[in-house]
Amino acid sequence: MAAIALPNSSVGGYNNIMNIIPIFLPHGGCKTRCTFCNEYVATGQYLLPGRDEIISTVKRYLSYFKNKEDVQLAFYGGTFAGISNMKDFLLITRELYNSGMIKGFRVSTSPASITSETVRQLAEYPLTFVEMGVQSFNRNVLKACNRDHSLEKIYESAHILREFRVPFGVHLMTGLPEDSEVEDLFSAIETVRIGAVTARIHPLVILKGSALEESFNRGLFIPPSLDASVEILWKMFLLLEGGGVKVSRIGICLYGEQIEEVVAGPYHPALGELVRNRIMLEVIRRFAETEGESNLVLHNSHKKDFVGHRRYIVNLASQEGLAIEFSRSGKLVDIGYYDRLIREKLLREVVCSS
Ligand code: SF4
Repeated sequence: MAAIALPNSSVGGYNNIMNIIPIFLPHGGCKTRCTFCNEYVATGQYLLPGRDEIISTVKRYLSYFKNKEDVQLAFYGGTFAGISNMKDFLLITRELYNSGMIKGFRVSTSPASITSETVRQLAEYPLTFVEMGVQSFNRNVLKACNRDHSLEKIYESAHILREFRVPFGVHLMTGLPEDSEVEDLFSAIETVRIGAVTARIHPLVILKGSALEESFNRGLFIPPSLDASVEILWKMFLLLEGGGVKVSRIGICLYGEQIEEVVAGPYHPALGELVRNRIMLEVIRRFAETEGESNLVLHNSHKKDFVGHRRYIVNLASQEGLAIEFSRSGKLVDIGYYDRLIREKLLREVVCSS
């Protein structure tokens, strides 16, 4: 098996293969307000954009893009298929598509608003991708977060999207109320099972103005630490990618002033890299076991794999009594082989515990 491609940072993903123009529709179409969510502060926007604003945003992005071949419009920040004037946005996508400015559009939406009728309507326009905001495959977590859909509705919506042959991704979260590592790993496995093409995962951070901010301020809820979150994320990553689901991003997407809106929780600008490092720590542990050595001299070409963000891997390994050095004549590690071993062990553990 080839080595699993790991995200270089929390800003991984789609932009490697296409140019995305994000259009934010904060809370547009949301039937409920999820306890962790405040799209107004996450996007820095309070109003839904109109036609002229969308078109001028598209033109602005196009002026930045070198490659204008595969440009996709993306509606984020709400429940697209639940917006009462969804048709207005669809007509704008058609106009942009017909003018050649975009090659298609993608939407984020809650499973609650995915019906055969809405998907049929979306499919009449140049829709290329749907991201379902699922967050968790555990019904207690869904309830505790005030989600607007049941567990069964996730499976039904995935079925509808598959029937219409619309490729879809899933957005997952960790560290939610009523959540646990076992549930998060189960969610990763179910994401593979329902046929998602991509997944974005973000560990809960407490945003200003969200319902959870009040619980946090009253001491009723404390989000997991960064270390605890990384411990779960690396396992989810391996289960997802090993099952054929591309992890397109790890970590909440916040830029500039929006980062100040995080009250608490495991926000880290290089979270994707920490997760990658954590997987490599696991690989090097297994390699050391196989070699029966605690002083490892690796080939220089492995520095990019086994040093880590601010020497994360080397330092953690050293705390465990595992010394890592590099040299021209050092050993090569078959990372793909160890990825597979680790994933298979994880799968066995998750299946046994569920
Ligand atoms: S998580 Fe999605 S469905 Fe829930 S309030 Fe936020 S945008 Fe709306």
